[in-house]
Amino acid sequence: MKIPINLKAGSVDKEEKKDVIIGIDLGTTNSLVAYADGEETFVIRDTSGSNALVPSILHFGKDGVVVGDIAREKLISAPERTIYSVKRLMGKSYQDLSSLKDSVGYNVIDQDAEALVKVEIDGKYYTPIELSAEILKELKYRVEKHLKATVSKAVITVPAYFNDAQRQATRDAGKLAGLEVLRIVNEPTAASLAYGIGLSKDEEQTIVVYDLGGGTFDISILQIQNGIFEVLATHGDTQLGGDDFDKVIIDYWLSKSDISADGLNNNKSLGQEYRTEAEHAKKAISTIGSYKTSIANKELHIDAETFASLSYDLIAKTINACKLAMKDAKLSNEDIDQIVLVGGSTRMPIIKSAVSDYFGQSINDSLDPDEVVAIGAAIQADILAGNRKDLLLIDITPLSMGIETVGGLMDVIISRNSKVPTRAGRQYTTSVDGQKNLKIAVYQGERDLVEHNRKLGEFNLTDIPPMPAGIPKIEIKFILDADGILTVKATELRSNVETQMEIRSAYGISEEDMARMLIDSLQNAESDMQTKGLLESINEANNILLAAQRFIEQNKDALTIEQISKINLLKEDLLATTQGDSKDVIEASMQAMNLYTAPLAHEALDRNIGKALKETKM
Ligand code: ADP
Ligand code: MG
Repeated sequence: MKIPINLKAGSVDKEEKKDVIIGIDLGTTNSLVAYADGEETFVIRDTSGSNALVPSILHFGKDGVVVGDIAREKLISAPERTIYSVKRLMGKSYQDLSSLKDSVGYNVIDQDAEALVKVEIDGKYYTPIELSAEILKELKYRVEKHLKATVSKAVITVPAYFNDAQRQATRDAGKLAGLEVLRIVNEPTAASLAYGIGLSKDEEQTIVVYDLGGGTFDISILQIQNGIFEVLATHGDTQLGGDDFDKVIIDYWLSKSDISADGLNNNKSLGQEYRTEAEHAKKAISTIGSYKTSIANKELHIDAETFASLSYDLIAKTINACKLAMKDAKLSNEDIDQIVLVGGSTRMPIIKSAVSDYFGQSINDSLDPDEVVAIGAAIQADILAGNRKDLLLIDITPLSMGIETVGGLMDVIISRNSKVPTRAGRQYTTSVDGQKNLKIAVYQGERDLVEHNRKLGEFNLTDIPPMPAGIPKIEIKFILDADGILTVKATELRSNVETQMEIRSAYGISEEDMARMLIDSLQNAESDMQTKGLLESINEANNILLAAQRFIEQNKDALTIEQISKINLLKEDLLATTQGDSKDVIEASMQAMNLYTAPLAHEALDRNIGKALKETKM
C-alpha cells in the first residue's frame, strides 16, 4: 500500500481532511475551473449556466483589471491595455520571444535579452506571472461564489512540453492569486484522467491526446502504467489553432468581396467583425453544416465542403505532427489503445474524422473537449484531497536539489517537479593540484545562490589520490526514492574512491518556508540572474588568470621581457576587476587579455609543433 504523503508538509495526509481542492485549466485562449467531491465532477459556469469558458484576456481599465468576456470586448477599442496569450510569455526571456513581440497589440518591453519578460501598461510593468495570477483570481472568485466558501488549494494544468521555468512561473502565479498549488499536471494527463484512463492500478495503456485549441496545437503520446503517466513524445505547433481556421474563412470571404487583406488590416472594427463572423461560421459548420451572414452590406456564406477543402493544409499539418510523435515514441498504430480529443477546435467534424482515419480507430469524444482538461485537473485535485482512497499517488519533488559549486552557485541535479523515484548524476573535477578532499554540500531550493536555499547536508569525499587539477573525474549521483529519501553518492572514477550520505526527509519543508522561498525567488529572479552572471564571469576570469600564469611559466624562454610584463600588467588589471561587481568590466578586461595573448599562444603552438616534428625526425 502507498500512503499519500503531503510532499510539501512532509506529513501523511489525514483521512478526515475534506478540503475542496480546485482544478484549473489555465489556457492560452480560454481558462476554466472545476472541482470534484469524490464521485462527481462539477465545472463552474457563468450565471447563465451555459458557459464555463473564461477568455484568458485581461483589460486594464480606469477601475482596475477585468478578466474574461468583458476584457475581450476591449481588444479593439483599447488594444494596448488589453492583454491576451499571456501563457505564451510564461517563463520566457526577451530572447525567447523576439518573434512574438511584434505580433501582439500590447507592449512587451525590451530590456536585457536574458531577463524575464514584462508587459508595459501605462508606464507600469507586469510580469506574465502577475498577469496569469489575475486570471487565476477570477477563476478562484467564480468557484468561491458558487461554493459560498473560500478555496485556497489548486491543481493547475500546463502543456506537456512546458519546461521547468514555465512550470515554476505557473506555480508562482497560483501563489500570487492566493492559491496553494498542490500539483502542476500535464494537460494530456488531465485529459486522460477525465476519461477515466489511468484511474486503476493495474491498468497499462498507451494513449494519444490530440489537443487543438485557439492558437496552439499539441499532440502527446502517454504511457500509463501503475498510475504513472509517462510522456513518450510530444509534438505540435505553437502557432496553429482555431484562429487559423477562422482565417481561411476570412480569406475566402475577402476573395468574394472587393476588400483587400490590407484594407481589412487598416480597418480595425471591420477586421474584428470579419473575425467574429468567421468564428461563428466555423462553429455553425460543425453543427448545421453551413452559414450565411452579411458584413457591411455584403452577403457572405460558406458550406462544410468549401470549408473542408480550405482547411485541408491546416489539418494535414496536425496529422504530420502526429506522425512525427509516433515516430519519436517508436510506436505504430496497433500500439495505441485510446485516442482522446481536447480543445474547442476538435469539435470540427473534419478534425474528428481526420484523426480517427489516421490512427485507424474510433476516438474518445463523449466529453466536452473544452472541459476535459479542467475535469481531469479536478479529479487529480480530488485524489490529492484524499477523496479517492484506493488510488495510487505519483509524487513529485516540490523543490530542486543540487550541490554547491564554485562561487556559491547552486548546481541543480534533480529539478523540481521530477517524479519520484528518480536518479540523476553529473561529473565534476578538482580545481587545485593534488587536491585530496572535496566537500559536497547538498541544497534544496530554486535560487541560483546556495546561500538562499536550504541546506540538506554536507559530507567530504576524502582520499582522492593526488592528481593535477582538472584530472580527477568525480561523479555525484543523487538517488531519490519514493519515500523522499535522498542518497548522495560521490565517486572518484579513476581511483574508485567513494563516499555516500543519506538525507532523510528531503521534503520536510514547512508550508511557510516553501511560500517564503517561492516569493523570494519571484522577487529576486532578476537580481539573482545578475549575481549569477557576475559569479560566472569571476570564475571565468580566475581560470584565465591561472591559464595566463601557466602560459608565462611554460614559455618564459620564448617570450620577451616586454611581452611578459605586458601579460603581468593585464593579469593585474583582470584580478582587480574581479574584486568589483561589474560583469561588463570583467568581460572587457578578459577580452583585452585574450586579444593580447591569442597571437602569442598561436606562436607558441607553432613552435611546439615544429619542435615535436623535429623530434620525430631525429
Ligand atoms: P485554448 O486551449 O488555447 O485555451 P480552447 O480549447 O478553449 O483553447 O479552444 C478555443 C478554440 O476552439 C477557438 O478557436 C474556438 O473558435 C474553437 N471552437 C470552439 N467551439 C468550436 C466549434 N463548435 N467548432 C469549431 N471550433 C470551435
Ligand atoms: Mg487548452
